[in-house]
Amino acid sequence: MKEIILIKLGEMVLKGLNRKSFEEILIKNIKHKIRSLGAFSVKIAQSTIYIEPLSDDIDLDEVCEKISQVFGIAAFSRALICTKDMNTILNVVTDYVADDLKFAKTFKVNAKRSDKKFPLKSPEICAEVGGKILETFPKLKVDVKNPDITITVEIRDFSACIHSKTIKGQGGMPIGTSGKATILISGGIDSPVAAYMMAKRGLTLSAVHFESPPYTSERARMKVEKLLKIVSQYAGPIEMHTVPFTKIQETIRDKCPEELFTIIMRRVMMQVASALAKEDSSHALITGESLGQVASQTLYAIECTDCACNMLTFRPLIGMDKQEIIDISRKIGAFETSIEPYEDCCTVFTPKHPRTRPILKFVEQAQKDADMEELIKKAIENTKTIIIQ
Ligand code: ATP
Ligand code: MG
Repeated sequence: MKEIILIKLGEMVLKGLNRKSFEEILIKNIKHKIRSLGAFSVKIAQSTIYIEPLSDDIDLDEVCEKISQVFGIAAFSRALICTKDMNTILNVVTDYVADDLKFAKTFKVNAKRSDKKFPLKSPEICAEVGGKILETFPKLKVDVKNPDITITVEIRDFSACIHSKTIKGQGGMPIGTSGKATILISGGIDSPVAAYMMAKRGLTLSAVHFESPPYTSERARMKVEKLLKIVSQYAGPIEMHTVPFTKIQETIRDKCPEELFTIIMRRVMMQVASALAKEDSSHALITGESLGQVASQTLYAIECTDCACNMLTFRPLIGMDKQEIIDISRKIGAFETSIEPYEDCCTVFTPKHPRTRPILKFVEQAQKDADMEELIKKAIENTKTIIIQ
């Protein structure tokens, strides 16, 4: 008995002429994701990708775990393959689905015959397989409308495939099909979720993190690296740029009106990040801002932040509640790390009464008066880059 994994493609099946290039990228991503688990053959036919392990010692549970993190996959299942012969199918089917049927009261058989030379038609395959299952598990009943379990028998070109459990994939578009964007990543809950959400739309990511030693610690940066590593399980390798931000923040503290500290700091972050993004051939910025969440995320504050640079900026969390963001954070496995108590440069020199309705021209003037162009250039020059994967 040999098992393979069948993968149903996500939204990309809606693509027209360039669908093939999407499929090729997805196959490349899948191969990259499972390469450490052994040797596999990965092929596509009739909108289904087949992963076949090439040795017996491969743990398919581990393969499924990895596949569940790949964008571009709507659903997948483990399937038994056997020769295209009704006797063989009847001999193996009951053993193979026995575990899945343990807690089921009702079932249905679904047959797909893409090899039209197979002597039995789909309804006949269903009848024979259904009969065999009823004979082996007499307590079960057939329910074609709302069964607890659906057993699928597919007669494909190369063999017969039997499967009974479909696992939901991540959905989205394969990484690398939408270009590249740069996430401004902090150690908080929001920005890793924003990164995940945009990667899900097929973007390759790079990341910019601002640190202000000695106000922020080495541990705080390591926490951000850990968060990016979690995101990279879905998004693939991420270039992380760490920008030394201390002098800029001290200058803002010394030269700008206190109630505008945060907003000016956020504007400088956007300017530095857009300069680094351009060097990276990245075409957009991504932030974890959510409308109204804090003083620097009111409509007027975001407007002032947005005007700081002229790069397209994605804010995928803009309309979400904190709880909705936390739910995704938990789902992707980032939450426990995000809530570790390390400082972020945003919490250094926070004003007692931040302006929630800053006026752009005053903010621009205050930033200009602080005269930070040279410092910004230096910070970009002294940025350190590592690859997270
Ligand atoms: P998060 O949970 O992502 O930290 P937040 O709710 O704490 O978000 P802010 O601290 O105001 O909000 O930050 C807003 C956004 O600014 C973040 O989502 C992130 O994109 C960016 N940001 C904040 N701090 C940093 C940092 N140290 N380095 C890079 N980007 C940052
Ligand atoms: Mg934060």
